[in-house]
Amino acid sequence: MAAASDVREIISGDGEAGVEIVRNVRRWVDEQVIPQADALEHAGEFPTAIHRDMCEMGIFGITFSEAYGGLGLSFETYSAVIEEIARGWMGLAGIINTNVIDGWIIEQHGTDEQKQRFLPGLGSGELQGCFTITEPNAGSDAQAIRTTATRDGDDYLLNGNKLFVTNGDRGDVYLAMTKTDPGANPRHRGISAFLVERGTPGFSIARTIDKLGYKGPETAELFLEDARVPAANLLGGGEGRGFQQMISGLEIGRINVASRATGVAQAAFDHAIVYAQQRETMGRPIAEHQAIQLKLAEMATKIRAARLLTRDAARKKDSGERSDLDVGMAKLFATEVALECTLESMRVHGGVGYTKELPIERYYRDAPLMAVAEGTNEIQRLVIARRLLELYRVD
Ligand SMILES: Cc1cc2nc3c(=O)[nH]c(=O)nc-3n(C[C@H](O)[C@H](O)[C@H](O)COP(=O)(O)OP(=O)(O)OC[C@H]3O[C@@H](n4cnc5c(N)ncnc54)[C@H](O)[C@@H]3O)c2cc1C
Repeated sequence: MAAASDVREIISGDGEAGVEIVRNVRRWVDEQVIPQADALEHAGEFPTAIHRDMCEMGIFGITFSEAYGGLGLSFETYSAVIEEIARGWMGLAGIINTNVIDGWIIEQHGTDEQKQRFLPGLGSGELQGCFTITEPNAGSDAQAIRTTATRDGDDYLLNGNKLFVTNGDRGDVYLAMTKTDPGANPRHRGISAFLVERGTPGFSIARTIDKLGYKGPETAELFLEDARVPAANLLGGGEGRGFQQMISGLEIGRINVASRATGVAQAAFDHAIVYAQQRETMGRPIAEHQAIQLKLAEMATKIRAARLLTRDAARKKDSGERSDLDVGMAKLFATEVALECTLESMRVHGGVGYTKELPIERYYRDAPLMAVAEGTNEIQRLVIARRLLELYRVD
């Protein structure tokens, strides 16, 4: 089943190169991902062959500069690629997300040596990146983190624990937010970011967290106990800039999440509109009952709006202009649409929608994560409102 819109309609920034990669990914998702996604997801298996294909297509470094081996494409194209991938299996978008976030942050804020050392591997997918802010006592209130980093000669000693680390089990590089000055006021001035490498003494993976959905990428809890990290791994080489550095990457993550939400909603709709024409009740296909037609119309309209809002936000990010409002709106709207459409698709399918014979239950289990991750939708509303009040300030 093809997604409703043509590729050309949804991206323009990279010309033929953008259109080509989206078409290739769409075909690959239909041929390679969709046939095996349910089985792998139910088994909780990491998709090794799919991961290899994504590396070969250059998707991990899709937005990285060509100087570091990336494809140098726009966030607009990235958004369309992630939508296609999530249409097949949302979890795959999470495997890509942390590499793209880390790569962007390192390109923007890293030292030259850090760029040379980490970007080629993160872009090729040879290295798995992780992006870790959250702790047991700090989620929405990110500045409440308690992990400390204390200078010790040429190193820092990191102590604390990090929760909900996507790809945490198989990470190679963990971009971690810490406090180098826990007493700083305002709190963000005491925050610094480190590139913690797998194998660092004192760094360990405490456990893998079992989840409702979002399988594929494992979610882990990490311990840092006098973890000895070289000062050369302090992002950008200076203390006190970690909060801005890390938060700047959240916009990239929100574009990813809005795009995957659109893809999941599209997949749920694609199934619903086919099933509605096949299933008969009262002597005619349910698609001829007005109650079902209303659902299909609502779903398709909202998915189209989510796609346009998301692509628009990605273009704003590409322009280099401030984009927190645009990205926040896209993330909020698209993820609520995914929640609504996965449930509506289940209703259209009746009983069979609730079984594991169809992927509707997977879409339904995957949708809520997107309303929580990369800043909950309550927090998105606050981000949007704060920016609106700045823009519309009455003096
Ligand atoms: C599967 C999964 C993967 C994740 N991956 C990562 C990752 O890779 N890296 C990472 O750093 N984090 C990750 N997270 C963490 C995620 O970003 C947080 O769960 C999220 O930011 C919310 O934080 P919290 O869970 O502590 O909820 P809390 O902050 O405790 O919030 C609880 C509730 O209160 C609401 N709330 C909180 N503050 C306010 C406020 N000021 N106003 C109104 N409402 C408020 C929230 O919206 C929510 O409804 C992941 C989470 C999950 C579930």
